[in-house]
Amino acid sequence: MGHCKWCDRSGIFFSVNERGLCSECDFKFINEGKSRTRVINNCEEIIGKSNNPETVISRTNVLIDNLNQLSKYEVKGIQVLTRPTKDLIEDFSQTCNDRILEIMTNEFQISREKIDKTISNKAKIDACEKYISKVIEIKGQLFTDVPNYQITLKIMEKLIKEMKSFVS
Ligand SMILES: [Zn+2]
Repeated sequence: MGHCKWCDRSGIFFSVNERGLCSECDFKFINEGKSRTRVINNCEEIIGKSNNPETVISRTNVLIDNLNQLSKYEVKGIQVLTRPTKDLIEDFSQTCNDRILEIMTNEFQISREKIDKTISNKAKIDACEKYISKVIEIKGQLFTDVPNYQITLKIMEKLIKEMKSFVS
């Protein structure tokens, strides 16, 4: 007797596949899995390439939303991806924090070079303040519920401190 893990239908002549799904549910599952995987892969690519912290954050949120949507299958005992979605969500949240830090560290160097070349004191302070306000804004958007949050925050605060000392 087959029993579908997703729609709960069962019967003597009811057959399910190796995933425990009837053909109707499996069709939907495969289609949803394909389209969400496409979105996830696309986001991952942008997250790895973008130099804009806002883009990295928004793409990570889209990616996590798609993983969350897939987790409904796990609840019913259907394996979706090679690893549990909650582990993947933690990984991608940490990757987001890492990428943000990387981008802001690069921008630190760019800002410092700009400040080095600038003669006007006001322009130096402006460039410094612009960088600092950006870091303050971005550090408030870090993923907090992950192991690398505290260290990422600490390094970002150090960047602010260093930038401040550079013009004072
Ligand atoms: Zn079914």
